[in-house]
Amino acid sequence: MIFVCEPDELKNFGLCAESLFSKWLGDPKRSYVAYQLRRINATVVFHASLPIFYGFYLDDHLRSDYWKFACLPCVLALTWVCFYHFGFALGPIESQLLKMKEPGESIIDLLQLINSDMNTGTKFQNRSVTITQNFIISPSKYSFNICRQSVAQLKVTQARELTQQNERTDHARVMNMTYYTILVTAQDVSFRIFVHTDEIDEFKMHLAAQLGSDGSEYESLTTRFLKEANKVIELNVKSEKREIENDDSLCAACGAVEPDVRLTSCQCRALFCQECMLRCFMAKQKPEHMSTWLSSTAKCPVCTKPFNLLNISPFSVEDHL
Ligand SMILES: [Zn+2]
Ligand SMILES: [Zn+2]
Repeated sequence: MIFVCEPDELKNFGLCAESLFSKWLGDPKRSYVAYQLRRINATVVFHASLPIFYGFYLDDHLRSDYWKFACLPCVLALTWVCFYHFGFALGPIESQLLKMKEPGESIIDLLQLINSDMNTGTKFQNRSVTITQNFIISPSKYSFNICRQSVAQLKVTQARELTQQNERTDHARVMNMTYYTILVTAQDVSFRIFVHTDEIDEFKMHLAAQLGSDGSEYESLTTRFLKEANKVIELNVKSEKREIENDDSLCAACGAVEPDVRLTSCQCRALFCQECMLRCFMAKQKPEHMSTWLSSTAKCPVCTKPFNLLNISPFSVEDHL
């Protein structure tokens, strides 16, 4: 599908989707994700309908023939928008949010966390990316990428030197700037963001993952944490599977795999897989307090009683046989 973008002159007069539909789009402060979803829909429909307006510049006899074709993109765009809007299918953003949801976290919790991150606390923001305490968010014209800071891996894929055209002659030296293209990957999303030399220090400050100066891959917090956490759990007291807990029960959090741990801290008797427990634990940790993660706590997804890493008790090996 080809969209015709509004020329920049129109944008300067406020003729872009964001300002034309500002009432309908609502306040991004109230619900950031809902605002972005509406903004993308409005932009798609607006851009797809631009060819219709260009028809007014044509001669009368050409116009009706032109309009037969010019309305096609608009019809297609409206179909596309309605398809997702009325829930016939999950849009790419909704499915991404569902994947980001941690065990024991509801989609409402997740949306609220995104909102509070966007409205409070310090964040890094440029034209291509916003980095909040917990998320890396990159809205573009027709899409919207988001992932958790804790699982994000970042890699500089390109560092392009920009030679500045210096218009002011009183500056003898021309400063060269570098424009970094950074690939962000997390679970199964990946997207590119762009950061300029004069922003890179602030950018790094807001990142949970460490950015290697040599442009090598940044190890995500998750990778580092999992290594350490698995070591702790390995040394924990092992537990036996009780008779009453039949063998074909599945993990209480993901419902997909056989459980291999229990929490010694709660009475709810739920069994989990170790991976779910660690994900659920990590979801509650603050990226900037990485050093205290191993001694921190999270809530059991079933009974919400707090637990720490020492409470995750793996089944003794005999029980697996
Ligand atoms: Zn699980
Ligand atoms: Zn519990």
